[in-house]
Amino acid sequence: MLFDIVIIGGGPAGLTAGLYATRARLKCLLIEKGLLGGQVATTELIENYPGFEQGITGADLSSKMEEQAKKFGLETIQAYVESISSRDKIKKITLEGGEEYETRSIILCTGAKPTRLGVKGEGKFRGKGVSYCATCDGAFFKGETVAVIGGGNSAVEEAVFLTKFADKVYVIHRRDKLRADKIAQERAFSNNRVEFKLDTVVEEITGENDVKGLHLNNVKTQEKSILDVTGVFIYIGYNPNTGFLKDLVELDENNYIIADFDMATSVPGIFAAGDVVSGSVKQISVAVGQGTTAAISAGKYIEENFS
Ligand code: NAP
Repeated sequence: MLFDIVIIGGGPAGLTAGLYATRARLKCLLIEKGLLGGQVATTELIENYPGFEQGITGADLSSKMEEQAKKFGLETIQAYVESISSRDKIKKITLEGGEEYETRSIILCTGAKPTRLGVKGEGKFRGKGVSYCATCDGAFFKGETVAVIGGGNSAVEEAVFLTKFADKVYVIHRRDKLRADKIAQERAFSNNRVEFKLDTVVEEITGENDVKGLHLNNVKTQEKSILDVTGVFIYIGYNPNTGFLKDLVELDENNYIIADFDMATSVPGIFAAGDVVSGSVKQISVAVGQGTTAAISAGKYIEENFS
């Protein structure tokens, strides 16, 4: 079975690439290991995706994207890609279990997972006060008190961003030194709505239907405390889903895929889009735009190399 394009990953980037590829009458297969829609499918409410002025639930948005792409003939399968070989112009994709597909081009849209804190309450209150995206969810916390967990650039910069909405933002970091660069630290220190709790770890996120507070432990003094917050933003790093690629395409120092303006990777015929791309702003609208570009670029590549 020879495809024009195989898309790996079925979030907004992959589904959009599939929509554009099938509308260009290219033979296209999308392989997704979990739920179509990716992280969006499990997001409560999305208020920053254009076209939905009242907001839309993540489940609704991902099923609309899926239906739209399938309407034009996108085939999808649920499977885990184990390896890709690109020795010839025809590339081979091997699934867990040994099944193989051949394709003229590939679009990698496997995303990145925010690292979980791994404490009690984190899963229960996800979307009910626990968030991994201040840009997406900050506006839900107008006038409230929230906490940001982490001490890197993301945590410190997002804490300052959250002061646009929240009255008070605590940054809870497990050490006494921040990893964030000095400029980010200075901005946070000079913001009187931001308060740091260093040498402190979260032991539990508590609440009833929504988040009400955090159980904290000071790792130096072993002093336990309770902090009343209605939101918890967890910024302790991201893991791009690129492990299965091994040395196939060039990655940056954090294992994100390096892609150019046309979403082309270091290997001809292999493109990438969405959160897995180095430097990508992790937003649905960006993933959709990159998915579009990647599908158009893959189409041009096929025309130039196979006709
Ligand atoms: P990061 O720099 O790796 O920071 C992760 C933070 O989370 C660290 O402070 C780490 O603590 C903490 N942490 C990790 N696991 C934890 C756990 N289980 N419990 C509690 N805390 C935990 O990640 P990032 O902030 O997402 O940034 C990723 C990369 O993007 C970095 O290179 C960063 O500089 C870059 N970035 C740049 C910008 C910018 O330039 N404007 C903005 C955002 C991100 P420790 O310090 O103790 O390890």
